[in-house]
Amino acid sequence: MIESSRLSERSVEIDERIATYKGVWVFIETDCGHTNPVSWELIGEGRKLADTLGVEVWGVILSAPGDVNYDVAKDAFSYGADGVYLIEDEILGDYRTVPYTKGLTYLVNKYKPEILLLGATILGRDLAGAVATTLTTGLTADCTGLRIDVESNSMAATRPTFGGSLLCTIHTLKARPQMATVRPRVMEMPIKKNNRTGQIVNVNLGMKEEDIITKVVDYIRGQDQIQLAFSDFIVSGGRGLGKIENFRLINELATVLGAEVGGSLPLVQAGWIDSERQIGQTGKTVRPKLYIAVGISGAIQHRVGIDGANCIVAINSDPNAPIFDFAHYGIVGDAIKIMPSLTEAFRNRINQIVV
Ligand SMILES: Cc1cc2nc3c(=O)[nH]c(=O)nc-3n(C[C@H](O)[C@H](O)[C@H](O)COP(=O)(O)OP(=O)(O)OC[C@H]3O[C@@H](n4cnc5c(N)ncnc54)[C@H](O)[C@@H]3O)c2cc1C
Repeated sequence: MIESSRLSERSVEIDERIATYKGVWVFIETDCGHTNPVSWELIGEGRKLADTLGVEVWGVILSAPGDVNYDVAKDAFSYGADGVYLIEDEILGDYRTVPYTKGLTYLVNKYKPEILLLGATILGRDLAGAVATTLTTGLTADCTGLRIDVESNSMAATRPTFGGSLLCTIHTLKARPQMATVRPRVMEMPIKKNNRTGQIVNVNLGMKEEDIITKVVDYIRGQDQIQLAFSDFIVSGGRGLGKIENFRLINELATVLGAEVGGSLPLVQAGWIDSERQIGQTGKTVRPKLYIAVGISGAIQHRVGIDGANCIVAINSDPNAPIFDFAHYGIVGDAIKIMPSLTEAFRNRINQIVV
């Protein structure tokens, strides 16, 4: 009897504490004044969650001091944020886990948001894990859907599980904030409204360089980074191409269309393409206007990466291939024979338009 009354007292305590957390936050990822677009996609998504809850959306910017931070804040308002918490400090110039975790956890403990969203980028994944661990709260990584469950008044965060064969929905019921990461291009980019304004709250980090053991010695940028996630046109190859020499058919069509080149996981494993070009659950999520899938079966792990494409054209010799269940247009036949004619037809059509 005593134990059960203690338990219910404890449960009431937790519920009361949880009720003090309000609002939806998005961590705005910046690098030398450039904002990762996933931050705007998340502000758009955060706006929908906040409207359902009847609360505000705020962004968080952690950065070295500079006027550019105020431009980023203005962009955040245009995409739907009501306000921005801004911590400026030289220490935050290059990303390091310790000062960024300190800044974000300090803000959360002070202002208590009920939801905190971050991009599932290299930086976002590192920071989200460190912040969730420090705050001892729940984090659902790589979500593909977020909504408010009205009954429990909690965020329902959906993500693939069991190798992508199932989708599971996770709730953080007894801790706050409810945290989630979402990969770039999974959510739609919101419409920018330049007349929107918002509030900026400046906060001090209160940390010294001597407190941080990691130092940034050099910054080596990758060259010719592949912008697959943001390409409007993608031609993608799969195992149905048969051999590496046939991949030139993908390159040729992509060149004619001015498209990026992608592929399925087996092609990465076979060393035909760079892992940066892999599309799907463990690769990139894309949202092109046109996605041409050549010799790709359409396994669920590939499909989750292309669900946001406006138009999917599939070329496959098997009329029962799963890709035909969700492609907008399908060509049944041998890709090795079809591709040269298709490329030629596109070339002629484009030449006619240009002339
Ligand atoms: C945890 C996990 C994560 C994964 N992540 C990813 C991921 O991110 N991305 C990904 O792609 N996969 C991923 N996979 C693998 C996925 O399950 C599939 O095995 C993979 O997508 C299949 O690639 P494919 O369609 O190229 O090959 P296959 O499944 O072998 O399909 C080849 C297709 O080509 C067709 N074909 C054959 N010959 C021709 C021809 N001459 N002309 C036209 N069509 C032809 C066949 O009918 C077939 O449909 C993952 C799997 C797991 C377990």
